[in-house]
Amino acid sequence: MEYASIPGVSTPASRVGLGTWAMGGTQWGGTDDDESVRTIHAALDLGVTLLDTAPAYGFGHSEEVVGRAIAERGGRERVVVATKVGLEQRGDGVIRNSSRRRIFEEIEVSLRRLRTDYIDLYQVHWPDFDTPYEETAQALLDLQRAGRIRAIGVSNYSIEAMERFRRVAPLASAQPPLNLFERQALEDIVPWCRANGLATLTYGALCRGLLTGGMREDTRFEGDDLRKTDPKFQPPRYAQYLQAVQRLAQFARERYGKGVLPLAVRWVLDQPGVTVALWGARHPGELEPLRDVVGWSLDSEALAYTDSVVNESVRDPVGPEFMAPPERRPEEPDEQPVAPV
Ligand code: NAP
Repeated sequence: MEYASIPGVSTPASRVGLGTWAMGGTQWGGTDDDESVRTIHAALDLGVTLLDTAPAYGFGHSEEVVGRAIAERGGRERVVVATKVGLEQRGDGVIRNSSRRRIFEEIEVSLRRLRTDYIDLYQVHWPDFDTPYEETAQALLDLQRAGRIRAIGVSNYSIEAMERFRRVAPLASAQPPLNLFERQALEDIVPWCRANGLATLTYGALCRGLLTGGMREDTRFEGDDLRKTDPKFQPPRYAQYLQAVQRLAQFARERYGKGVLPLAVRWVLDQPGVTVALWGARHPGELEPLRDVVGWSLDSEALAYTDSVVNESVRDPVGPEFMAPPERRPEEPDEQPVAPV
Protein backbone atom coordinates (compact mmCIF):
# COMPACT_ATOMS: atom_id res chain seq x y z
CA MET A 1 0.00 0.00 0.00
CA GLU A 2 1.06 3.60 -0.56
CA TYR A 3 0.47 6.16 2.20
CA ALA A 4 0.06 9.92 2.37
CA SER A 5 -0.68 12.45 5.05
CA ILE A 6 -3.74 14.60 5.58
CA PRO A 7 -2.99 17.87 7.39
CA GLY A 8 -3.97 17.53 11.06
CA VAL A 9 -4.46 13.75 10.93
CA SER A 10 -1.67 11.84 12.65
CA THR A 11 -2.43 8.38 11.25
CA PRO A 12 -1.01 7.90 7.74
CA ALA A 13 -3.80 7.62 5.17
CA SER A 14 -3.68 4.78 2.66
CA ARG A 15 -3.80 6.18 -0.86
CA VAL A 16 -6.66 3.84 -1.60
CA GLY A 17 -9.48 4.50 0.84
CA LEU A 18 -12.47 2.23 1.31
CA GLY A 19 -15.77 3.92 0.41
CA THR A 20 -18.70 2.57 2.41
CA TRP A 21 -21.68 4.22 0.70
CA ALA A 22 -23.07 0.91 -0.60
CA MET A 23 -22.75 -0.59 2.91
CA GLY A 24 -25.52 1.79 3.97
CA GLY A 25 -27.87 -0.34 1.89
CA THR A 26 -30.15 2.32 0.47
CA GLN A 27 -29.63 3.33 -3.17
CA TRP A 28 -27.57 0.20 -3.79
CA GLY A 29 -30.30 -2.45 -3.70
CA GLY A 30 -29.78 -3.57 -0.08
CA THR A 31 -26.72 -4.90 1.69
CA ASP A 32 -25.49 -7.59 4.13
CA ASP A 33 -23.90 -6.20 7.30
CA ASP A 34 -21.77 -9.23 8.16
CA GLU A 35 -20.39 -9.21 4.62
CA SER A 36 -19.72 -5.46 4.92
CA VAL A 37 -17.81 -5.94 8.19
CA ARG A 38 -15.75 -8.70 6.56
CA THR A 39 -15.02 -6.31 3.69
CA ILE A 40 -13.76 -3.62 6.06
CA HIS A 41 -11.57 -6.19 7.84
CA ALA A 42 -10.23 -7.42 4.49
CA ALA A 43 -9.40 -3.83 3.54
CA LEU A 44 -7.54 -3.27 6.84
CA ASP A 45 -5.64 -6.52 6.27
CA LEU A 46 -4.57 -5.22 2.86
CA GLY A 47 -3.14 -2.05 4.40
CA VAL A 48 -6.10 0.27 3.89
CA THR A 49 -6.27 2.74 6.79
CA LEU A 50 -8.80 5.28 5.52
CA LEU A 51 -12.52 4.50 5.75
CA ASP A 52 -14.90 7.03 4.19
CA THR A 53 -18.50 7.07 5.37
CA ALA A 54 -21.37 9.53 5.91
CA PRO A 55 -24.56 9.79 7.95
CA ALA A 56 -26.46 10.00 4.67
CA TYR A 57 -25.34 6.53 3.57
CA GLY A 58 -28.31 4.41 4.62
CA PHE A 59 -29.36 7.17 7.05
CA GLY A 60 -26.68 6.25 9.57
CA HIS A 61 -26.36 2.59 8.70
CA SER A 62 -22.98 2.86 6.98
CA GLU A 63 -21.52 4.68 10.02
CA GLU A 64 -22.91 1.95 12.28
CA VAL A 65 -21.26 -0.77 10.20
CA VAL A 66 -17.94 1.10 10.19
CA GLY A 67 -18.18 1.58 13.98
CA ARG A 68 -18.92 -2.10 14.48
CA ALA A 69 -16.07 -3.23 12.21
CA ILE A 70 -13.50 -1.05 14.01
CA ALA A 71 -14.76 -2.07 17.45
CA GLU A 72 -14.60 -5.77 16.58
CA ARG A 73 -11.09 -5.46 15.13
CA GLY A 74 -9.62 -3.00 17.68
CA GLY A 75 -6.88 -0.50 16.87
CA ARG A 76 -9.06 2.58 16.44
CA GLU A 77 -5.95 4.80 16.42
CA ARG A 78 -4.62 3.01 13.32
CA VAL A 79 -7.71 3.97 11.29
CA VAL A 80 -8.45 7.30 9.63
CA VAL A 81 -12.20 7.69 10.08
CA ALA A 82 -13.51 10.14 7.51
CA THR A 83 -17.19 10.94 7.82
CA LYS A 84 -19.41 13.81 6.75
CA VAL A 85 -21.98 16.28 7.95
CA GLY A 86 -24.55 18.66 6.52
CA LEU A 87 -27.35 16.61 5.00
CA GLU A 88 -30.69 16.15 6.70
CA GLN A 89 -33.17 13.36 6.07
CA ARG A 90 -36.48 14.34 4.49
CA GLY A 91 -38.69 11.36 3.72
CA ASP A 92 -36.72 8.89 1.62
CA GLY A 93 -34.05 11.43 0.68
CA VAL A 94 -32.01 14.30 2.05
CA ILE A 95 -31.72 18.06 1.81
CA ARG A 96 -28.65 20.16 2.48
CA ASN A 97 -28.28 21.70 5.93
CA SER A 98 -24.88 22.85 7.21
CA SER A 99 -26.19 25.22 9.85
CA ARG A 100 -24.41 25.39 13.19
CA ARG A 101 -27.40 23.85 14.94
CA ARG A 102 -27.49 20.91 12.53
CA ILE A 103 -23.72 20.28 12.77
CA PHE A 104 -23.78 20.19 16.57
CA GLU A 105 -26.69 17.72 16.48
CA GLU A 106 -25.07 15.48 13.88
CA ILE A 107 -21.66 15.15 15.48
CA GLU A 108 -23.08 13.53 18.61
CA VAL A 109 -25.03 10.97 16.62
CA SER A 110 -22.09 10.17 14.33
CA LEU A 111 -19.71 9.67 17.27
CA ARG A 112 -22.20 7.29 18.85
CA ARG A 113 -22.69 5.27 15.68
CA LEU A 114 -18.95 5.15 15.01
CA ARG A 115 -18.31 4.11 18.65
CA THR A 116 -15.52 6.63 19.03
CA ASP A 117 -14.86 9.92 20.79
CA TYR A 118 -13.20 11.67 17.87
CA ILE A 119 -13.46 11.84 14.09
CA ASP A 120 -10.22 12.10 12.12
CA LEU A 121 -11.64 13.96 9.13
CA TYR A 122 -15.04 15.67 9.27
CA GLN A 123 -16.22 16.74 5.83
CA VAL A 124 -19.13 18.95 4.81
CA HIS A 125 -20.94 16.66 2.38
CA TRP A 126 -22.42 19.24 -0.03
CA PRO A 127 -22.43 23.05 -0.01
CA ASP A 128 -25.57 24.44 1.62
CA PHE A 129 -26.41 27.66 -0.22
CA ASP A 130 -28.79 28.76 2.52
CA THR A 131 -26.18 28.79 5.29
CA PRO A 132 -23.22 31.20 5.10
CA TYR A 133 -20.00 29.25 4.60
CA GLU A 134 -18.56 31.24 7.49
CA GLU A 135 -21.21 29.85 9.88
CA THR A 136 -20.43 26.27 8.82
CA ALA A 137 -16.68 26.89 9.10
CA GLN A 138 -16.95 28.43 12.57
CA ALA A 139 -19.03 25.50 13.85
CA LEU A 140 -16.43 23.02 12.59
CA LEU A 141 -13.58 25.09 13.99
CA ASP A 142 -15.26 24.98 17.39
CA LEU A 143 -15.58 21.19 17.16
CA GLN A 144 -11.92 20.94 16.19
CA ARG A 145 -10.85 23.12 19.12
CA ALA A 146 -12.96 20.95 21.43
CA GLY A 147 -11.06 17.85 20.20
CA ARG A 148 -14.12 16.14 18.73
CA ILE A 149 -12.65 16.24 15.21
CA ARG A 150 -9.01 16.28 14.12
CA ALA A 151 -9.32 17.87 10.70
CA ILE A 152 -11.92 19.63 8.58
CA GLY A 153 -12.76 18.80 4.98
CA VAL A 154 -15.37 19.68 2.39
CA SER A 155 -16.91 17.77 -0.45
CA ASN A 156 -18.46 18.96 -3.71
CA TYR A 157 -17.41 22.54 -2.89
CA SER A 158 -16.36 25.09 -5.51
CA ILE A 159 -13.03 26.90 -5.21
CA GLU A 160 -14.84 30.11 -4.34
CA ALA A 161 -16.70 28.36 -1.51
CA MET A 162 -13.44 26.86 -0.19
CA GLU A 163 -11.77 30.27 -0.29
CA ARG A 164 -14.53 31.76 1.84
CA PHE A 165 -14.59 28.79 4.19
CA ARG A 166 -10.89 28.83 4.95
CA ARG A 167 -10.86 32.47 5.91
CA VAL A 168 -12.58 31.19 9.08
CA ALA A 169 -11.31 27.63 9.57
CA PRO A 170 -8.33 25.65 8.23
CA LEU A 171 -9.30 23.25 5.48
CA ALA A 172 -7.41 19.96 5.36
CA SER A 173 -9.09 18.33 2.39
CA ALA A 174 -11.59 18.40 -0.44
CA GLN A 175 -13.59 15.50 -1.85
CA PRO A 176 -14.58 15.86 -5.51
CA PRO A 177 -15.62 13.11 -7.96
CA LEU A 178 -12.81 11.78 -10.16
CA ASN A 179 -12.46 8.80 -12.44
CA LEU A 180 -11.55 8.11 -16.06
CA PHE A 181 -15.04 9.22 -17.13
CA GLU A 182 -15.56 12.12 -14.68
CA ARG A 183 -12.52 14.39 -14.88
CA GLN A 184 -13.78 17.90 -14.26
CA ALA A 185 -11.92 18.08 -10.92
CA LEU A 186 -8.60 17.92 -12.77
CA GLU A 187 -9.42 21.31 -14.30
CA ASP A 188 -10.16 23.14 -11.08
CA ILE A 189 -10.46 21.51 -7.63
CA VAL A 190 -7.46 19.15 -7.70
CA PRO A 191 -4.85 21.70 -8.96
CA TRP A 192 -6.21 24.32 -6.59
CA CYS A 193 -5.90 21.93 -3.63
CA ARG A 194 -2.39 21.01 -4.72
CA ALA A 195 -1.37 24.67 -4.88
CA ASN A 196 -2.93 25.43 -1.51
CA GLY A 197 -1.76 22.44 0.52
CA LEU A 198 -5.07 20.60 0.82
CA ALA A 199 -5.31 16.84 0.53
CA THR A 200 -7.81 15.43 -1.95
CA LEU A 201 -9.95 12.35 -1.40
CA THR A 202 -11.46 11.74 -4.80
CA TYR A 203 -14.61 9.68 -5.04
CA GLY A 204 -16.10 7.15 -7.48
CA ALA A 205 -12.80 5.69 -8.75
CA LEU A 206 -14.76 2.93 -10.49
CA CYS A 207 -17.56 5.19 -11.70
CA ARG A 208 -20.11 3.25 -9.66
CA GLY A 209 -18.88 -0.08 -10.95
CA LEU A 210 -18.67 0.85 -14.65
CA LEU A 211 -14.87 0.64 -14.60
CA THR A 212 -14.70 -2.79 -13.00
CA GLY A 213 -15.01 -4.52 -16.37
CA GLY A 214 -17.89 -6.59 -15.00
CA MET A 215 -20.77 -4.58 -16.51
CA ARG A 216 -22.61 -5.83 -19.62
CA GLU A 217 -25.27 -4.30 -21.82
CA ASP A 218 -27.84 -6.63 -20.21
CA THR A 219 -26.70 -6.04 -16.58
CA ARG A 220 -29.80 -5.28 -14.50
CA PHE A 221 -29.90 -3.43 -11.18
CA GLU A 222 -32.29 -4.41 -8.40
CA GLY A 223 -34.55 -2.51 -6.00
CA ASP A 224 -33.55 1.10 -5.28
CA ASP A 225 -30.12 0.82 -6.97
CA LEU A 226 -29.23 4.34 -8.13
CA ARG A 227 -27.72 2.98 -11.33
CA LYS A 228 -31.30 2.48 -12.56
CA THR A 229 -31.41 6.25 -13.01
CA ASP A 230 -27.71 7.11 -13.37
CA PRO A 231 -27.59 8.64 -16.90
CA LYS A 232 -24.36 6.80 -17.75
CA PHE A 233 -26.13 3.46 -17.39
CA GLN A 234 -29.00 4.32 -19.77
CA PRO A 235 -29.03 3.32 -23.44
CA PRO A 236 -27.87 4.44 -25.93
CA ARG A 237 -25.12 6.23 -23.96
CA TYR A 238 -24.36 3.17 -21.81
CA ALA A 239 -23.00 1.31 -24.87
CA GLN A 240 -20.46 4.10 -25.45
CA TYR A 241 -19.12 3.77 -21.91
CA LEU A 242 -18.99 -0.03 -22.20
CA GLN A 243 -17.04 0.27 -25.43
CA ALA A 244 -14.51 2.54 -23.70
CA VAL A 245 -14.17 0.04 -20.83
CA GLN A 246 -13.60 -2.79 -23.30
CA ARG A 247 -10.83 -0.88 -25.07
CA LEU A 248 -9.24 0.16 -21.77
CA ALA A 249 -9.37 -3.46 -20.59
CA GLN A 250 -7.56 -4.61 -23.73
CA PHE A 251 -4.92 -1.94 -23.23
CA ALA A 252 -4.43 -2.85 -19.53
CA ARG A 253 -4.08 -6.52 -20.42
CA GLU A 254 -1.69 -6.09 -23.34
CA ARG A 255 0.48 -3.33 -21.89
CA TYR A 256 0.58 -4.25 -18.19
CA GLY A 257 -0.91 -7.74 -17.84
CA LYS A 258 -3.53 -6.27 -15.49
CA GLY A 259 -7.29 -5.79 -15.39
CA VAL A 260 -9.18 -2.61 -16.21
CA LEU A 261 -10.06 -2.05 -12.54
CA PRO A 262 -6.42 -1.65 -11.38
CA LEU A 263 -5.81 0.57 -14.42
CA ALA A 264 -8.77 2.79 -13.45
CA VAL A 265 -7.66 3.18 -9.83
CA ARG A 266 -4.00 3.68 -10.83
CA TRP A 267 -5.10 6.39 -13.27
CA VAL A 268 -6.70 8.30 -10.38
CA LEU A 269 -3.67 7.84 -8.10
CA ASP A 270 -1.29 9.04 -10.83
CA GLN A 271 -3.01 12.41 -11.25
CA PRO A 272 -0.86 15.15 -9.65
CA GLY A 273 -2.66 16.46 -6.59
CA VAL A 274 -4.65 13.32 -5.80
CA THR A 275 -3.97 12.15 -2.25
CA VAL A 276 -6.49 9.33 -1.83
CA ALA A 277 -8.71 7.48 -4.30
CA LEU A 278 -11.94 6.17 -2.75
CA TRP A 279 -12.94 2.70 -3.92
CA GLY A 280 -16.41 1.49 -3.00
CA ALA A 281 -16.75 -2.19 -2.15
CA ARG A 282 -19.01 -4.35 0.02
CA HIS A 283 -17.69 -7.86 -0.62
CA PRO A 284 -14.20 -8.90 0.55
CA GLY A 285 -13.38 -10.49 -2.82
CA GLU A 286 -13.94 -7.15 -4.56
CA LEU A 287 -10.74 -5.90 -2.95
CA GLU A 288 -8.56 -8.62 -4.48
CA PRO A 289 -7.44 -6.38 -7.40
CA LEU A 290 -6.00 -3.95 -4.83
CA ARG A 291 -2.73 -5.86 -5.01
CA ASP A 292 -2.51 -4.94 -8.70
CA VAL A 293 -2.99 -1.24 -8.02
CA VAL A 294 0.14 -0.48 -6.02
CA GLY A 295 3.81 -0.37 -6.95
CA TRP A 296 3.62 0.91 -10.55
CA SER A 297 2.42 3.95 -12.42
CA LEU A 298 1.15 5.02 -15.82
CA ASP A 299 3.63 6.83 -18.05
CA SER A 300 2.69 9.85 -20.14
CA GLU A 301 2.12 7.75 -23.25
CA ALA A 302 -0.32 5.52 -21.37
CA LEU A 303 -2.11 8.53 -19.90
CA ALA A 304 -2.47 10.03 -23.37
CA TYR A 305 -3.77 6.74 -24.76
CA THR A 306 -6.44 6.38 -22.05
CA ASP A 307 -7.55 9.95 -22.79
CA SER A 308 -7.89 9.18 -26.48
CA VAL A 309 -9.90 5.99 -25.81
CA VAL A 310 -12.37 7.86 -23.61
CA ASN A 311 -12.68 10.79 -26.00
CA GLU A 312 -13.20 8.57 -29.04
CA SER A 313 -15.61 6.08 -27.45
CA VAL A 314 -17.77 8.36 -25.34
CA ARG A 315 -19.28 10.75 -27.88
CA ASP A 316 -22.11 11.86 -25.58
CA PRO A 317 -20.47 12.22 -22.12
CA VAL A 318 -22.41 13.10 -18.99
CA GLY A 319 -21.11 14.03 -15.55
CA PRO A 320 -22.04 12.92 -12.02
CA GLU A 321 -24.39 15.87 -11.41
CA PHE A 322 -27.41 13.60 -10.98
CA MET A 323 -26.12 12.83 -7.47
CA ALA A 324 -26.50 16.39 -6.17
CA PRO A 325 -29.12 16.65 -3.42
CA PRO A 326 -31.66 19.50 -3.55
CA GLU A 327 -31.03 22.80 -1.85
CA ARG A 328 -32.90 23.82 1.28
CA ARG A 329 -35.40 26.66 1.02
CA PRO A 330 -35.82 27.92 4.59
CA GLU A 331 -39.07 29.69 3.75
CA GLU A 332 -40.71 26.45 2.62
CA PRO A 333 -38.69 23.72 4.32
CA ASP A 334 -41.30 21.00 4.14
CA GLU A 335 -42.20 21.45 0.50
CA GLN A 336 -38.78 20.68 -0.88
CA PRO A 337 -38.34 17.70 -3.17
CA VAL A 338 -35.96 15.16 -1.76
CA ALA A 339 -33.36 13.18 -3.68
CA PRO A 340 -30.83 10.53 -2.99
CA VAL A 341 -27.36 11.59 -1.86
P1 NAP B 1 -17.12 3.29 -7.04
O1 NAP B 1 -15.94 3.11 -6.19
O2 NAP B 1 -16.99 4.06 -8.29
O3 NAP B 1 -17.78 1.87 -7.39
C1 NAP B 1 -18.22 1.06 -6.34
C2 NAP B 1 -18.93 -0.16 -6.83
O4 NAP B 1 -18.14 -0.90 -7.75
C3 NAP B 1 -19.13 -1.12 -5.68
O5 NAP B 1 -20.24 -0.81 -4.88
C4 NAP B 1 -19.26 -2.44 -6.37
O6 NAP B 1 -20.60 -2.65 -6.81
C5 NAP B 1 -18.38 -2.28 -7.57
N1 NAP B 1 -17.10 -2.96 -7.36
C6 NAP B 1 -16.07 -2.59 -6.56
N2 NAP B 1 -15.04 -3.45 -6.66
C7 NAP B 1 -15.44 -4.39 -7.55
C8 NAP B 1 -14.83 -5.55 -8.08
N3 NAP B 1 -13.60 -5.93 -7.73
N4 NAP B 1 -15.51 -6.27 -8.99
C9 NAP B 1 -16.75 -5.91 -9.37
N5 NAP B 1 -17.38 -4.81 -8.90
C10 NAP B 1 -16.74 -4.08 -7.99
O7 NAP B 1 -18.31 3.92 -6.27
P2 NAP B 1 -18.78 4.78 -5.11
O8 NAP B 1 -19.11 3.88 -3.96
O9 NAP B 1 -19.79 5.67 -5.69
O10 NAP B 1 -17.59 5.72 -4.68
C11 NAP B 1 -16.65 5.32 -3.71
C12 NAP B 1 -16.86 6.06 -2.41
O11 NAP B 1 -16.73 7.46 -2.60
C13 NAP B 1 -18.23 5.91 -1.76
O12 NAP B 1 -18.43 4.67 -1.14
C14 NAP B 1 -18.23 7.09 -0.83
O13 NAP B 1 -17.44 6.78 0.31
C15 NAP B 1 -17.55 8.15 -1.67
N6 NAP B 1 -18.51 9.01 -2.39
C16 NAP B 1 -18.65 10.28 -1.97
C17 NAP B 1 -19.56 11.14 -2.58
C18 NAP B 1 -19.69 12.55 -2.10
O14 NAP B 1 -20.63 13.25 -2.45
N7 NAP B 1 -18.76 13.02 -1.30
C19 NAP B 1 -20.33 10.69 -3.65
C20 NAP B 1 -20.15 9.38 -4.09
C21 NAP B 1 -19.23 8.55 -3.45
P3 NAP B 1 -21.56 -3.65 -6.03
O15 NAP B 1 -21.60 -3.16 -4.64
O16 NAP B 1 -22.84 -3.55 -6.76
O17 NAP B 1 -20.89 -4.99 -6.12
